[in-house]
Amino acid sequence: MFFKSPFRDWGIMQQKISLKILPTEAVDDAAIKTLIAKTTGNKVSAVTGFLIQKKSIDARGKIIWVNLTVTAFIDEPFHNRNIQTFNFTNVRQSAKRVVIIGAGPAGLFAALQLIELGIKPIILERGKDVRARRRDLAVLNKEGIVNPESNYCFGEGGAGTYSDGKLYTRSNKRGDIDRILNLFVYFGAEEKILYEAHPHIGTNKLPGIITAMRQKIEDCGGDFLFEKKVTDFIIVGEKIKAVKTEDGNIFDGDDFILATGHSARDIFELLHQKKISIEAKPFALGVRVEHPQSLIDALQYHCTTRGALLPAASYSLVQQVNGRGVFSFCMCPGGIIAPAATSAGQLVVNGWSPSKRNNPYANSGMVVQVELNDVIEKKIINTTGELSMLQFQQYVEEKAFAAGGGKFVAPAQRMVDFSRGKLSTDLPDCSYQPGLKAALLQEVLPEFVYQSLAKGFIAFGKKMKGYFTNEAIVVATESRTSSPVRIPRLSGLLTHPQLNNLYPCAEGAGYAGGIVSAAMDGERVANQIAKFK
Ligand SMILES: Cc1cc2nc3c(=O)[nH]c(=O)nc-3n(C[C@H](O)[C@H](O)[C@H](O)COP(=O)(O)OP(=O)(O)OC[C@H]3O[C@@H](n4cnc5c(N)ncnc54)[C@H](O)[C@@H]3O)c2cc1C
Repeated sequence: MFFKSPFRDWGIMQQKISLKILPTEAVDDAAIKTLIAKTTGNKVSAVTGFLIQKKSIDARGKIIWVNLTVTAFIDEPFHNRNIQTFNFTNVRQSAKRVVIIGAGPAGLFAALQLIELGIKPIILERGKDVRARRRDLAVLNKEGIVNPESNYCFGEGGAGTYSDGKLYTRSNKRGDIDRILNLFVYFGAEEKILYEAHPHIGTNKLPGIITAMRQKIEDCGGDFLFEKKVTDFIIVGEKIKAVKTEDGNIFDGDDFILATGHSARDIFELLHQKKISIEAKPFALGVRVEHPQSLIDALQYHCTTRGALLPAASYSLVQQVNGRGVFSFCMCPGGIIAPAATSAGQLVVNGWSPSKRNNPYANSGMVVQVELNDVIEKKIINTTGELSMLQFQQYVEEKAFAAGGGKFVAPAQRMVDFSRGKLSTDLPDCSYQPGLKAALLQEVLPEFVYQSLAKGFIAFGKKMKGYFTNEAIVVATESRTSSPVRIPRLSGLLTHPQLNNLYPCAEGAGYAGGIVSAAMDGERVANQIAKFK
C-alpha cells in the first residue's frame, strides 16, 4: 500500500507495509528492515528506517505471530514520528470561568480543552493529590480502613489514576481517540500507546502523567483545588450561580461541568433532593475472577511457559445464558485485585496492573447485565424511584462486606465450587491484599446474577479449555462497572434540561465508560461550552 510522500516526485517514496513476523523478529530492527527490503524488492541498505503504525499479536494458531503495519522509508531520509503538539494558552485573564467538579479523566481533559480554547477552568476535587492519595490506598489495603474522600475512586485523576490504564474503547464515534492518546504521550506516556492494538499505561506510570496534566493546567492559569467536596448547588432561575463545598466555600462560574464519576452517590442524592432530574440506569454486576497468569498464558499461547518476548496473555469472553449476557470486563493480565469501595461497610472489587504486567495473577471482572425490571419485579429492594439502582448496588456491596466479616476482607470461592454451590474448604493464593474469606457467593449475589455466572463459567471453560478450574478464585463483588444513575442532558446542547449552564459529563452521568471515553466526553462538553464564549 502506498501513500504520497513529499519526496515522491523525485522518484523516492514512503511505503505502508503489512508484515506478519515472529516475536523474535518484532523486537529486532535489523530483521524488520530486512523483511521490508524483501517485501518491497529493495536492497536492505535502501531502507533508511521505519515507523510502526499498528501492532497486534495473533495467538490463534500454534505459531504466534506479530502483525505489524509499518511506514517504511526507502531511499529517502528517515523522519521520526510527529508527536502532536497542543496550543495551551494563558487563560488567567479569560472573561469566562468554568467550574469543573471532579478531577477524573473527564474533568482533566475538559480543563485542558478549555485552556486550548482560551477559557479558564476551576477544578474542584474532593480527594487529595496523587501522592497523598497513595498513602490512603496503603492504609486501605493493609489495615482495611477506607478514607471516604481518598480511595481508588476519589482523588486526583479520579478512578483513572490507580487503574489499569487500559486505553481502548469501543466508543470511537464519540470523539477523537488519537487526540486523547497523543495527549497522554505529550504528558509522558510511552509512544507505543499510539500504535498498539490494546494500549495500556499501568498504575505505576499514571500518577506522573496525571501530575504533569495538573501542572500544565496550573501553569496556564487554571485553578486546581483539592479537598473541595461540592455539597450544594446555588441555583437562581434556570442557572447554577455557584457551588458550595463542604468547608463552606462558595465558587461561582459561568458554566459548571459535573464530572464526579459513578461513585459520587452524595451528588446523585443531592440532585434528587433538589429535584434536578436524574434517572435510574441499568448496569452490570458480578464478581472478579483470578487465575494464575501462567495458566492463562498456557491457554492463550498454547505453551507450557510463556516466551520472554510475549506480554502476559489476556482474554475476552462473552456468553448468553438464558437470554442474559455474561461477559468479562476490564481484564488485567499480570494484575492485582483492588478494594475499590468508597465507604465503610460496602465491598467493591476492581483490578489494576503495573506497566510491565508482571504479577503472577490474571484477573478480570465477570459480570451480568442488570436491567431495571430485574430489581423492581424481583423486589430485591423496596424502592422503585430514580435512586433504586444505586440502592440495589449499595445493598449488594453491603452484603459482600458482611460476608467477608469486615475490614474489606472479601468473600470468595474457588470457581468450580462456585458453579456447584459448594463452600470451598480452602482458597488459593490471591493478589487481593485485605484478604479473603471462604463463603457461599450465592448468598451474596442476587439469584439471577449467581445462576448466570455459574453457567457462564462452565460455558467459558468449554470455549477456553482449562479456564473452568478450581485453581481460579471468584471474589465478590464487582459492582461499579458503570453508573447506576443517568443525569439527563439535551442532545445538542449537552446541558441539563432544567439548568442551562450545568453540563452532566462522562461516566457518572451515564455518557462514558472507561478512561478514553470519559476523556472524550470531557472534551466534547468543553467544546460545546466554547461555542458560547
Ligand atoms: C481500579 C480501577 C481500574 C480501572 N481500570 C480501567 C482501565 O484499565 N481502563 C479504563 O478505561 N478504565 C478503567 N477504570 C475505569 C475508569 O477509571 C473510569 O471509567 C474513569 O476514570 C471515569 O472517568 P470520570 O472522569 O468520568 O470519573 P472518575 O474517574 O470517577 O472521576 C470523578 C472525580 O470526581 C471527584 N468527585 C466526586 N464527587 C465529588 C464532589 N462532590 N466534589 C468534588 N469532586 C468530586 C472524585 O473524587 C473523582 O476524582 C478503572 C477503574 C478502577 C477503579
